[in-house]
Amino acid sequence: MKITAIETLVCHARMRNWIFVKILTDQDGLWGWGEATLEWHTRAVCGAIEDVAQLLIGEDPTRIEHLWQMMYRQHFWHGNGIIRATAISGIDLALWDIVGKIHGVPVHKLFGGPVRDYIRTYCHLGGGKMEDFYETSTADAKRFADLARQAVEDGYTAMKTMAVPETMPLEGLRPINYAEACVLAMREAVGDDIDLMVDCHARPSPRMGVLFAKALEPYRLYWFEEPCWPESVDGIAECQRAVTTPIATGERLIGQHAFRELLEKRACSVIQPDITHVGGLSEVRRVAAMAEAYRVAIAPHNPQGPVSTAASIEFGLATPSYIICETVTQDVPWRKDVVSEGFTVEPKGRIVRPGNRPGLGIEINEAEVKKHPFEQEILQRSFYADGSVGDW
Ligand SMILES: [Mg+2]
Repeated sequence: MKITAIETLVCHARMRNWIFVKILTDQDGLWGWGEATLEWHTRAVCGAIEDVAQLLIGEDPTRIEHLWQMMYRQHFWHGNGIIRATAISGIDLALWDIVGKIHGVPVHKLFGGPVRDYIRTYCHLGGGKMEDFYETSTADAKRFADLARQAVEDGYTAMKTMAVPETMPLEGLRPINYAEACVLAMREAVGDDIDLMVDCHARPSPRMGVLFAKALEPYRLYWFEEPCWPESVDGIAECQRAVTTPIATGERLIGQHAFRELLEKRACSVIQPDITHVGGLSEVRRVAAMAEAYRVAIAPHNPQGPVSTAASIEFGLATPSYIICETVTQDVPWRKDVVSEGFTVEPKGRIVRPGNRPGLGIEINEAEVKKHPFEQEILQRSFYADGSVGDW
């Protein structure tokens, strides 16, 4: 059996262009789907997939590990930058989809079988609608409470919010008071049985991250995410030691070496590898094995498209330390039109039950994808009040 072609299909979904990867084989009707979505870098990733594909055409798609090694190590440059790692990840997902289809089993059965009956999911405030999640002002605590209440009405038992505003390396009490007011409003709105997470988007400096974490500690967050830049693992570790709130991070890290440092420094309680960036299912399983040794929880970063979600679910079904999966449902109203999924989501609790379809259990509707061709993503840039550059 041979790989005959690797194609990319771009589907514009407002804030993101979903990049679907389709690997074709010389067997009629046998192909695999992957996803390599990387916001604001769509053209670069599609080009990288075209480059990496040269290594794979004519190769046996069932030798996933061998192909992964080729993609990561060959042509001198290792695949540890975000563009190439995303390309490798998308291809890796499609290879696992193919092998599952060959054996007639879901991917999680190739990984040793299910270790749980269902997967818990969480939503973004507003279900992933860009304006609600990213653009609700932290000065508007009531809006945070209303959206949190809505998420509970929609069946969720956990939700993530961006209650920490864009912040200069050092600021006074105003942003901290804003964040505290938002989290207090949400906690009062939904009670103690709902898990709340706050994502800092790595906006604060390490010290501001600690100040925010301390202020929010009384509200017992499920986790506090990316309290400072991912480049500053020591800063994240400092935050983890300063509060009892579990710190989560890792969505921008690539490969086992980056996660090794995070784990060795005991920098967090939750790792958030992104299966479409970290190096695919092959690499995230190595990362998960390391995390098991530290008893650190795993909750994949997954705000992209439907193939990323399917892969995140398959991974979770076979991974003991996996606790919850990020989901986005309200980013575009036609999300369900482009994909047919094998799993089922129970409205009460928003838990995912596995299906029996082989591979990743999905099929992409190419005619629907064609209705949403590439468009430049909406720019999301941040500048502080004095005009200097901030982190979005
Ligand atoms: Mg995040």
